[in-house]
Amino acid sequence: MKILVSDNLHRAGIRLLKKVADVEIATGLNEEELIEKIRDKDAILVRSATKVTANVIAAAKNLKVIGRAGIGVDNIDLKAATRRGIVVVNAPGASTITVAEHTIGLILSLARNIPFADASLKSGKWEKKKFLGKELKGKTLGVIGTGRIGSQVIKKAKAFEMNIIAYDPYVPEKLAKSLGIEIVTLNEIYKRSDFITVHVPLTDQTRHLIDRKAISKMKKGVCIINCARGGVVDEDALLDGLKSGKVGGAALDVFEKEPALENPLLKQKRFIATPHLGASTEEAQRYASTIACEEVIKVLQNKPALNVVNMPGLSAEAMESLGDYIGLANLLGGFCVQLLKGSITSIQVTYCGKLADDEGLNVLTNSIIKGLLSPILTGGVNLLNASVLAKNRGIKITESRREEVERFDNMIILDVKAGRYNIQVKGSVVGEEKRIVGIESYSVDLIPRGKMLLVKHEDRPGMIGKVATLLGENRINIGAMQVGRKKVGGTQLMVLNVDHEISEDVLSEIKDIKGVKKVQVVEL
Ligand code: NAD
Repeated sequence: MKILVSDNLHRAGIRLLKKVADVEIATGLNEEELIEKIRDKDAILVRSATKVTANVIAAAKNLKVIGRAGIGVDNIDLKAATRRGIVVVNAPGASTITVAEHTIGLILSLARNIPFADASLKSGKWEKKKFLGKELKGKTLGVIGTGRIGSQVIKKAKAFEMNIIAYDPYVPEKLAKSLGIEIVTLNEIYKRSDFITVHVPLTDQTRHLIDRKAISKMKKGVCIINCARGGVVDEDALLDGLKSGKVGGAALDVFEKEPALENPLLKQKRFIATPHLGASTEEAQRYASTIACEEVIKVLQNKPALNVVNMPGLSAEAMESLGDYIGLANLLGGFCVQLLKGSITSIQVTYCGKLADDEGLNVLTNSIIKGLLSPILTGGVNLLNASVLAKNRGIKITESRREEVERFDNMIILDVKAGRYNIQVKGSVVGEEKRIVGIESYSVDLIPRGKMLLVKHEDRPGMIGKVATLLGENRINIGAMQVGRKKVGGTQLMVLNVDHEISEDVLSEIKDIKGVKKVQVVEL
């Protein structure tokens, strides 16, 4: 067997590869050179520099697997690989411990003024009194996001006898309890914490999670740490917080714009910056390399790999027949997760009509779960591992099939439970169009695309007009409208596709209309 390593990979992984194959190491190749090198190779190992394009994949006649020593696979043409039946594997979680340790390092640096005292002494001053620090013992640490890294930070902070509180609305109670700490609301985190550290992905929901309003709710002198993604903390708000003294110290490893050489925070007192070093350790590189190489070897030896990113296992025929339903399933998951609050506890999927006897329905269920979990988890949710990830989070998954179906020849009925809330959404592929045809027990016929406003209101004259007028007054254009009701004079569900952002103020105004019962926004 022949393997090409085309980026600088830690030698530990390469040693593993050499035990099973001939390994050629050639870095810094352009596309033409890569095409030449890859022709006879069974596998290629890359980090982020090598671009494994469709042209490269087309030339790689023997290629069975592409290994990425890291998490992101933007540099690999996944579609081209999948079409050719080439498995793509990666190494998520390789830097978990490293990032958690960096976070603890920054917390200690803030508590004991280490970088500030270092700079002062090196500038010729002996300012013992100025840098009076504080112990971590007994201080409250607020952890936002208790996934891989957040839970490791918790584990390490326990050793410092900190009082740890955490917020993660998507972690089931049982799993959260196993962390052995107090799970609280976001407001409690802000109100009670001496140190606040964020470990969430950057999503529409978490962008500027720590903003002016959040900072205003915090204790005076709070220290804020971000080793997650630039943008989770609003840097302007943080700068003002530091200037006013409301924020007693901050440490960022990640910035909204990187490299952050011109960032005004760099000139601010009691601010620590590291240049996106969170994952930069010899060990994290070693793990990324060994995990990716082990996965590549598993694929080459026909053993099940854990971190498969694509789904080349599905035959071309099955892929062809399920293509649109995979997209629909993903949309249904993405739609539901935005309507539910709290951690998902169970998912029930019913495949109806002509879908009932289709092969490969597990791919559809995984696509639903991918839609449900992708906005919550950091990368790595794919059509193969989605149900495993869901089960690891304590989510119960059940599938059933039903021959008969109302109105359509195919339908996916998705029931999702999150704590005491549950929602049912029905979807169908009509022609080549993916549609949502039922929400709870309301019949609708909705193209799930863009921004959607869902308003539940009393079924009486004038209600639709009031909402539409309010939107018009706020220059929000309505692209399409759907209404559904169970009985005349009961509750009606109105779904509007809108072309513009709906601000919190406009949402509150809609909620205040007499007869309006519930207002929600979904964006796909
Ligand atoms: P993860 O997917 O394991 O965990 C993320 C957690 O955030 C999940 O438990 C999820 O439920 C939770 N979450 C999602 N939305 C939330 C919200 N609105 N409020 C509260 N919790 C929410 O991810 P991870 O591997 O622990 O990574 C955490 C962060 O660290 C990510 O942003 C990742 O990109 C970043 N990261 C940074 C570096 C670095 O070099 N600094 C390296 C690796 C990862």
